[in-house]
Amino acid sequence: MEKVRQSLLDFWSQHARDLPWRRTTEPYRIWVSEIMLQQTQVATVRVRYEEFLERFPDVFQLAQASVDQVCEQWAGMGYYSRAKNMHAAACRIVDEYDGQLPSDTKLLRALPGVGRYTAGAVASIAHGLPVPAVDANAERVLSRLFAIDDPPGAARSNRLWSLAAQLVAQGNAATLNQALMDIGAGLCRTQSPLCAQCPLLSACTAASEGRPTAYPTRKQKAQRRQLAVAMLWITRENGDVLIEQRTASGMWAGQWQLPSEESDNADDALARLVERLGCVAEHCDVHVRHLLTHREVVAQLYRAVDYFHENGERTQWVSMPRSAPVNALSRKAIALMLA
Ligand code: SF4
Repeated sequence: MEKVRQSLLDFWSQHARDLPWRRTTEPYRIWVSEIMLQQTQVATVRVRYEEFLERFPDVFQLAQASVDQVCEQWAGMGYYSRAKNMHAAACRIVDEYDGQLPSDTKLLRALPGVGRYTAGAVASIAHGLPVPAVDANAERVLSRLFAIDDPPGAARSNRLWSLAAQLVAQGNAATLNQALMDIGAGLCRTQSPLCAQCPLLSACTAASEGRPTAYPTRKQKAQRRQLAVAMLWITRENGDVLIEQRTASGMWAGQWQLPSEESDNADDALARLVERLGCVAEHCDVHVRHLLTHREVVAQLYRAVDYFHENGERTQWVSMPRSAPVNALSRKAIALMLA
């Protein structure tokens, strides 16, 4: 941990970005910058921060303004709930704390719009307290530095905050917190971290494993359930192909398709198809995969043998099957059958 601390301090002394809110430790100004940075890019905040402070130079003037005036000043930055929360928090700071932002993170977090990160940032940067402030960038750096492979969630977050707390426990929390965030924003990129330029390289477990992007672990995508489709290729002597229309409700409602049945089980789908159409199904060496949002469809093609066609409203012969008005699954199947 000491090596990491020293590397962060060295990095900060040489590479700290010069940003307007880094030229002050005045709690009101730090708070304003942190709220702005929650959901707005640094480049935009650079400009809007100064303008906001010109209009509302202290917490008293912010509290005295109307919510509409604060929102007006906020225009263009989006997420107006931040402006409304700031105004509500300013009123409480004036009423309950004589206009002084509290330093205790619990009291800070009780203010509207102030979460765990913002409370840590204000307490460490403005009040110099040895408390962590871990944003998404710092989370990524810590996950890689200590190869934390817990799944996403509260337990992992708590673990990372606890590591950050150890890191800042001996002081210099403002510098250490911000250096971690800067490294996360500039070097420890999500997809292609610049490890060779990173001051933490020699201490970084993920880099030494040669797989920095394996951390932090991502949410497992929900497995798509498989849907088996048995599909019949029915032709007549002139080459026309039979298509049918699905019922008006349920999956692919009302769409045209090659005659098909579906089930969770391929044998079951085939049995249903053969029974409905009263023919023999000869296996073709053609199958189609098709992804739906929650399902993976695997359609197996069969040729109909001994099929007797009865005209019906929901079937039609098509002479140019490639341009038949069928759904995507059948279109893929037709293309493969005619290939
Ligand atoms: S060495 Fe690479 S993976 Fe480790 S913290 Fe630095 S940039 Fe991130």
